[in-house]
Amino acid sequence: MQSLDFAERYSRQVLFPPIGAAGQKQLAAARVAIVGCGATGSALASLLSRAGVGYLRIIDRDYVEPSNLQRQVLFDESDAAESLPKAIAAARKIKSFNSEIAVEPHAADLTPQNAEEFLGGVDLILDGTDNFETRYLINDFAVSKGIPWIYAAAVASYAVTMTVLPGETACLACVFPDSPRGMVETCDTSGILNSAVNFVASIACTEAIKLLVGARDKLRRTLLSYDVWTNDFAEISTAKPRSGCRACGQHDFVHLAGEGRPHITLCGRNSVQIHERQRPIDFDEISRRLTPHGPVRHNEFVLKFWREPYELTLFPDGRAIIKGTTDTAIARSLYARYVGS
Ligand SMILES: [Zn+2]
Repeated sequence: MQSLDFAERYSRQVLFPPIGAAGQKQLAAARVAIVGCGATGSALASLLSRAGVGYLRIIDRDYVEPSNLQRQVLFDESDAAESLPKAIAAARKIKSFNSEIAVEPHAADLTPQNAEEFLGGVDLILDGTDNFETRYLINDFAVSKGIPWIYAAAVASYAVTMTVLPGETACLACVFPDSPRGMVETCDTSGILNSAVNFVASIACTEAIKLLVGARDKLRRTLLSYDVWTNDFAEISTAKPRSGCRACGQHDFVHLAGEGRPHITLCGRNSVQIHERQRPIDFDEISRRLTPHGPVRHNEFVLKFWREPYELTLFPDGRAIIKGTTDTAIARSLYARYVGS
């Protein structure tokens, strides 16, 4: 039986009749994966963990930086000073306000190869990413397995979200067969209001709770967009899948097949990511090796090395983010020189 603390902790939510004691138990038994734990992802993780979702898996490839603190609600100045991976920092912060739920952090990049490991075995997948490549991968995986997922995005003052119920509503590829042009701008180029993030996270979190407590008739079956600055509001129906949709119609999961995912990609403004998972790094050893070449510092999760004008951030599985260039050849050569080829 649940402890008294459980009843006390969630008492105000249980008082809300559509949730009630039965809904709260369903939340405690629910398993949710959140892909990306930046602004939207950390708002979602904060809301859902406080609401008592029993198991959260948080997947994020990035580390905390000072420019994140304006909107990424799970992080603080010490996380940025330590360059903690966001997944790890998020799990620690959640533990400080709800130690009774399970949080499984993964400081890693979601790829077609690890999609089953990171997205399998959950009731719902939430989008906290900042790019369509990953969203199409989530969509392919979710549709192929029949797992609901919620698309959520915020850029500048603009927020957009839709709930995808595979086999029932439109999927992401129904609505956007290809990456939408006007929406490839990112927070790095357009800036972002923290209120746009919280707006979209609030809607997506509520949809998540409706779904997890079985209130499917209350789910929104539209693509909703709202600009918190201009007050422009739009909705288009997603009540039915588009006939002939590549993903949910033809079951052609090209993004999950993962053909041609590059080993090196641009990531954010002025940085390049080297995707490696098979090169376990001994931070102490590499730290000694790098010290003669420039400042180096590491903790258990991340190693940073500065070689002007570049900054190399290395993760234990060998993945690296190289700041200070958008030239993949330069990034590759720095990696080869300082980490290994
Ligand atoms: Zn579709």
